[in-house]
Amino acid sequence: MKDFHCRDVGANCDFVARGENNEEILKQVAKHAENAHQMKVTPDLQKKVEGLIHDESSDAHRRSAARP
Ligand SMILES: [Zn+2]
Repeated sequence: MKDFHCRDVGANCDFVARGENNEEILKQVAKHAENAHQMKVTPDLQKKVEGLIHDESSDAHRRSAARP
């Protein structure tokens, strides 16, 4: 399982998207960005998000989850 932490793009937000692949996560992120941040996922932002999606068992995940 992979996930993406909204906080990792600099938002003060606890949203975490989870899915089996980038596509599933990006779908949730697009919906969340619109609803919570009134933001559209541009190609640039999508690239950034894809770079931040990580496996739940990775060190990157532990760092994201531990951030206050
Ligand atoms: Zn958010």
